[in-house]
Amino acid sequence: MNILVVNCGSSSIKFQLISMEQEQVRMKGLVEKIGSEEAIFSFSSDRGVDKVKRVLPIKDHEKGLREIMAALVDPDVGVIRDVSEIQAVGHRTVHGGEEFNGSALITDEVIAAMERCTPFAPLHNPANIMGIRVAKDLLKVPHVGVFDTAFHSQMPQHAFMYGIPYEQYSEHGIRRYGFHGTSHKYVGRQAAEFLGKPFEECKLITCHLGNGSSIAAIKNGISVDTSMGFTPLEGLLMGTRCGDIDPAIVGFMAQNESLDIREVDAILNKKSGVLGLSGVSNDMREVEDAADAGNERAILALQVFYYRVTKYIGAYMTILGGADAIVFTGGIGENDPRVRRYIAEQLSWLGVELDHEANKVRGKVCQVARGPVKLVVIPTNEELAIAQETRAIVSAM
Ligand code: ADP
Repeated sequence: MNILVVNCGSSSIKFQLISMEQEQVRMKGLVEKIGSEEAIFSFSSDRGVDKVKRVLPIKDHEKGLREIMAALVDPDVGVIRDVSEIQAVGHRTVHGGEEFNGSALITDEVIAAMERCTPFAPLHNPANIMGIRVAKDLLKVPHVGVFDTAFHSQMPQHAFMYGIPYEQYSEHGIRRYGFHGTSHKYVGRQAAEFLGKPFEECKLITCHLGNGSSIAAIKNGISVDTSMGFTPLEGLLMGTRCGDIDPAIVGFMAQNESLDIREVDAILNKKSGVLGLSGVSNDMREVEDAADAGNERAILALQVFYYRVTKYIGAYMTILGGADAIVFTGGIGENDPRVRRYIAEQLSWLGVELDHEANKVRGKVCQVARGPVKLVVIPTNEELAIAQETRAIVSAM
């Protein structure tokens, strides 16, 4: 079975064609700057085609998807003879609100439910829905929506409620939803397999640390808490997002600098976090280089980042009553030995002992610390996770 995984943003489409027999990526790529005369279509395939880059006018998502399909069947660079070899399409969808507690075969009702969730993700959901509509027109096969929020949908109410008037939840849906769910579930399952224990019997703390970062507490296969909330702004310090702050800061900043709410929102989402604190970059590698060279704000940004990860882990250990493992994933979690060393040191009182040699690992499944709580690295693969979810839905049809 070949599954096309599609992730539509407002001006981009990321895709992978995955052969499910070997769970192998046949072709993957990205269309960027949709709407421009100089859009960029880049892709690689398992036929030895590496990073082809085409600059061409792509006026809308339909044209973008047509380009992708033409490349897939291209006799020179493509990997299939005909689009009929694509048996299903899996769509990355951001916000399922309280409408979806799992992946869903996309029907008109499902699209209507996604539209009801649009106020919660005004940038992402319309792009996802548009991508789904275009793809459904072009490919007459089952389409499945895999929601970033779905894995967290069974969080207990006391974990997802904010302490604001109840009507804000009951009438407007203001609550914690959590994100990165596809990744947390995927690495959680992989970690359970690595530990040789059923996922449904594991207590895990999964740390997805990338440009956007979140942590989840998983008990018996269910996400019981996670650090992102109503939006991905809550929780850890991120590349450019502030994470947890006192909400009174919003009004104070607005008044202080005569900013409107949208401007404050942009500062908190795009100019804060590791970038805002360090003044160097949102890229962890650059901030680490600056810190190594003695830049004090870069050192501070790293300290705040590590400290907050540690605080959430501490809270989640208590919520779960201990953990079988703490799982590291995402660009930073998979590749950065420093954050794992820091966490291991903070947990040394518990008997956690870092394996310095193993901790040098980058992007591979590996146990990096032993003790009553193991520290493991599990590379995430959201596209494969989406393809697996899609296969499960299609197989059950
Ligand atoms: P996104 O949230 O955009 O998916 P990624 O998961 O790709 O982000 O992670 C991007 C982050 O990973 C960047 O901050 C980058 O600096 C960091 N990163 C990648 N490789 C390394 C590394 N070797 N050491 C430290 N940080 C790394």
